[in-house]
Amino acid sequence: MMRFIHADMPSLDLARLMEDVEPFECALMEEFYNNYAGLKDEMRTADIYGRYGHLFSEEAIAVVAASMEQAGENEDIRWLRFLRTFSTMGHVENAVKAFTDRVNTYETQAVVKLDGDEIPYRFVPVKLRNEPDAKKRRALFDAKIVVTEKINEILVERMATVHDLSVVLGFKNYKDLCSSLKGIDYRALEDQMDSLVRRTEALYMSTMDGLLTERAGLSLAEAWSFDIPYAFRGQEFDELFTKELLVEKFYATLRGMGIDPERYPNIHVDLEDRPKKTPRAFCAPVKVPDDVRLVIRPTGGWRDYDAFFHEGGHAWHFGSARPDLSPEYRYLGDNSVTEAFAFLFNYLPSNPLWLKEMLGMKDPEGYVRFTLVNKLMFLRRYASKLTYELKLHSGRVTAEFQDIYRNCLQKALKFRHTEKHYLEDVDDAFYCAEYLRAWILEGQIRAALEEQFGEDWFKKEKAGTFLKELWSYGQKFTADELVKTIGYVDLDPEHIVMEIERGLAD
Ligand SMILES: [Zn+2]
Repeated sequence: MMRFIHADMPSLDLARLMEDVEPFECALMEEFYNNYAGLKDEMRTADIYGRYGHLFSEEAIAVVAASMEQAGENEDIRWLRFLRTFSTMGHVENAVKAFTDRVNTYETQAVVKLDGDEIPYRFVPVKLRNEPDAKKRRALFDAKIVVTEKINEILVERMATVHDLSVVLGFKNYKDLCSSLKGIDYRALEDQMDSLVRRTEALYMSTMDGLLTERAGLSLAEAWSFDIPYAFRGQEFDELFTKELLVEKFYATLRGMGIDPERYPNIHVDLEDRPKKTPRAFCAPVKVPDDVRLVIRPTGGWRDYDAFFHEGGHAWHFGSARPDLSPEYRYLGDNSVTEAFAFLFNYLPSNPLWLKEMLGMKDPEGYVRFTLVNKLMFLRRYASKLTYELKLHSGRVTAEFQDIYRNCLQKALKFRHTEKHYLEDVDDAFYCAEYLRAWILEGQIRAALEEQFGEDWFKKEKAGTFLKELWSYGQKFTADELVKTIGYVDLDPEHIVMEIERGLAD
């Protein structure tokens, strides 16, 4: 009898796992798109995880592990590695999905109360960067922290669960889980970033102090984190970066590389203004490459251009993947790769030649310096986030990490931070490292483009052909592999450091 019952239960095989990656990703992306595009109020990812729970079960992890062990020595098992990462990470996400949905719901509904006004929690950053009065920024920030402390109560439980589960799954800690599944040596990356931080220390302090003094009337030592977005508001550039021309400039850039946007009916641009649409641009690769959605709600100014070009980079990367690639390479893999292509486009509106030719900016030097100080600040910020997260995820979360967070960020950035952001400022699974690797890879891809096609590579059809070839592989190759295929030995931050040093030299 037992045997009969057992035979009746569908056992989970590898084929079923492989089959369901795509429909799961499609359902999840559709849900994100509908919520962020303002088409649907609530976000119900828990339902989707429920439907596809078998992808993230302990059995699924075991099935993939067994297949990896059985594979022959010379067999290419990268897709199995990607699948193992997907199942294990998904297992962790699945275990905390109730906390995640609670945080999202709380954030969507929370309001910050100030002088009789009620400001939606997620709208606070927009308010802060447009508020010229430092005292008012302080008051708004203090009011925001009251809500942050409430959210921290959920986040700390969520993180403790993640930390505990990592040990249950047989890893030393969460750092070890992420590092061994993704195959990234975070310590080595930290070393590389440490030397970048040291090497750019004096340059950062003088240029950032100068920028803050000029634009916010504050020295670097006086400034708080909430003063920084205001200092980088750059209102005087608004007249060139108009929202009316945004999409047209992006399309013109693609055409310059021989890429005709008309020939990409699979990439849908959503510009519609809906009251609940998020102010942040995003790309939803709902079905790769057949249905990729590029969404923005332009508000005017340089940030629109950086954000839309960034998401456009993702859209063309996913939208150009070969349809016959297996789903593991179209949906999974190393996200440093798609982020690098996003950065490649993201930084075109900071490129002096692009600014002159596409926007008609007469003397781009001042604007380019402004963007490079911003970039240097972000590189140092993410370097310090990596250092902090390596400490945080090496054990179990405690209240002590509030001070550790503040100290790590202040050491690299020199302006003041609140310790209350010690959980809110952390993305899952060391995504900070994906960004850092993407910044490095982008610097190297761009250097290769410049060397082969000239400084105005973005006007060369051959550069477009070169990119389309790289895009066609989706995320089959990791950033470490991709950088070798374009002629480098390894990921090396030298290119971005030199760009910043040259651009910011007096
Ligand atoms: Zn991105």
